[in-house]
Amino acid sequence: MPGFELFGAEERKEVNDVLETGILMRYGFDGPRQGIWKAKELEQAITEVFGCGYAQLTANGTAALTTAMAALGIGAGDEVIMPGFTFVASFEAVLSVGAVPVLVDIDETLTLKPSAVRAAITPKTKCVMPVHMCGSMADLDALKQICDEHQLILLEDACQSIGGAYKGKSLGTIGHAGTFSFDFVKTITCAEGGVVMTNSEEVYRKSDGYTDHGHDHLGVDRGADLHPFIGYNYRISELHAAVGLAQIRKLGTFLGLQKKNNKALRAYLEQIPEVSFRVVPEGGDDSCSFISWFLPTEALTKAVVAEMKEQGILAGNFYWFVNNWHYISKWDHLKNATTLNALSDVQKAALLKLRETDFSASDAIMSRCISTAISLVWTDEQIRDKGEKMVAVIKKVLQANS
Ligand SMILES: *Cc1c(COP(=O)(O)O)cnc(C)c1O
Repeated sequence: MPGFELFGAEERKEVNDVLETGILMRYGFDGPRQGIWKAKELEQAITEVFGCGYAQLTANGTAALTTAMAALGIGAGDEVIMPGFTFVASFEAVLSVGAVPVLVDIDETLTLKPSAVRAAITPKTKCVMPVHMCGSMADLDALKQICDEHQLILLEDACQSIGGAYKGKSLGTIGHAGTFSFDFVKTITCAEGGVVMTNSEEVYRKSDGYTDHGHDHLGVDRGADLHPFIGYNYRISELHAAVGLAQIRKLGTFLGLQKKNNKALRAYLEQIPEVSFRVVPEGGDDSCSFISWFLPTEALTKAVVAEMKEQGILAGNFYWFVNNWHYISKWDHLKNATTLNALSDVQKAALLKLRETDFSASDAIMSRCISTAISLVWTDEQIRDKGEKMVAVIKKVLQANS
């Protein structure tokens, strides 16, 4: 899964270019930087590799989501429909712009269930935000149709699905805007970084200003820039962008290894008829950063997790159902609206309502799901060992419970 596994000379070279000039900031200092513009170069590479009109780098993926929402005009009191299975950053970003996260069920794609989205629409709904979890995607045609019908914004949280595609287009480039994270464990890392991708010149221009205190970036003199609106500082540094630039050039290698290793390990799990796999929507191309698989019942899944732990092979296998970061069942801070600064009354009421919301349809899926992270550096021997041990554990548990 993560690009950090193949960190090396290429990254050091790009970072050294920046260290040579000492201009660590992405804007200004045109003379002393001697033509070194790593953030600009990375933005250009992103538009080319992923096929989008515009790319605005940010300090991290959470900031990318916040920026995208602000640029799309999502703000106070607007409802954003999102899945109950995601990383906490998704709802953090919604709250940060004053909007209201409306969490709904997922289906066996492990992302938004279209019928649950439809049922959650109110006059306050402004945006549908699918989160393409673990490398694969939501049913984007179905969601696009809903958004078109109700004139809603489609914002893709593609932070975890760099390299995945749907009907020939890169995830993150299909909605009105989409985001990637380049944090340390993502498919491309900058150490910390993120990007807003869009085909709208206006959304791009707003994102550009918003991430740099509202600067219009029109003049050559930063000090003379005007501020058409209020922004924040969500800038990426040249050092971080330099790492990303080396990484994006290796993306083809990362994805090739990921697909090969995923396929080889999956072949072991496919030997067991009781094991089923995450649904990839028709026309979807999984980035293969994980294998997400299901057992027939929650009890069997818990027994397999316990047995894998017992045998010391649980590392890299995620049972999200009981994980504190990724699933609604454990987000007490969200459901209790525990914040440091006051939320708006509407936000607070919406969060407290989550305590009574029925997520049994999601529970029925998440309680049976294990996601196995795919390493880029596994040897064939390691995959065989891993595959054989996993199969043995699953068979043992199935036998004991038959
Ligand atoms: C990683 C991630 C983010 C946020 O990224 P950071 O760069 O860590 O802020 C947002 N959404 C999802 C689904 C993620 O996995």
